[in-house]
Amino acid sequence: MSEIRNCIGVVNGMPTSDGAGVSLLRVVGTPQIDYLDPFLMLDEFKNDDPGAYVAGFPEHPHRGFETVSYMKQGAMKHRDSAGNEGIIHDGGVQWMTAGSGIIHSEMPQQTEGLLWGYQLWVNLPAKHKMTAPRYQDIQKDGIPEVITDELHVRIMAGHYQGTDGASQTLWPVEYMDVMAKPGAVFTHDIPEGHNVMVFVYEGEMHAGDKVIAAHQLGVFAQSGALELRAGSEKAGCLIMAGKPIGEPVAKMGPFVMNTDAEIRQAVQDYRAGKFA
Ligand code: MN
Repeated sequence: MSEIRNCIGVVNGMPTSDGAGVSLLRVVGTPQIDYLDPFLMLDEFKNDDPGAYVAGFPEHPHRGFETVSYMKQGAMKHRDSAGNEGIIHDGGVQWMTAGSGIIHSEMPQQTEGLLWGYQLWVNLPAKHKMTAPRYQDIQKDGIPEVITDELHVRIMAGHYQGTDGASQTLWPVEYMDVMAKPGAVFTHDIPEGHNVMVFVYEGEMHAGDKVIAAHQLGVFAQSGALELRAGSEKAGCLIMAGKPIGEPVAKMGPFVMNTDAEIRQAVQDYRAGKFA
């Protein structure tokens, strides 16, 4: 039996807006937590006021990392300059490798009701930053699940209890959605040295003597097994784990490279129309 992984900090998200005016909660990529290697950003958008989401995220470029959209409720349409197009609905995930450069848009496909989803940015190591763009569009039914009396675990990426996740990743990362009944305990072995963060979207999760409440992110130590216990009400959380890349990060808006010179090159290439 391995030791239990310590929760070393709990942070709150920061309300902001992005895209063409989508209200969201930025959870990673804030002054409190700028980067948890390899995760560059985590946003939660959850609005039932169409005015807070209909404008969506019109065309914009990316280079050097991956963007992952996960919808809990609602429909989002992705379209990109490599010719990929797809709509994901409740429970679906889009895993896009921007690599050497892509221009995409993500637009809500509804004008009323709740739109609830997440965008996660996964960094890539230098050797993969200029890889060819790739797009994986996985609907709800394509995401493997492990369901017990107490837990409902959806595996977008990684491995849980012998079940492989849906997405191909270029770097060792895990991304799961865990829905737990009151008091249920979730345990998961994560390799030594990997970073782990847990975003609670409903209820609360206990990790040792720490409590991660709804809309908070728990950050964990790099050693031991993850153990979470739902509070006295049902709870839901996203679990993100990954091997640290350990390289310098140069970030400017939608471009994430290793050096400032590479950022300047990205801007120049984008303006010259060299993205896919
Ligand atoms: Mn984008």
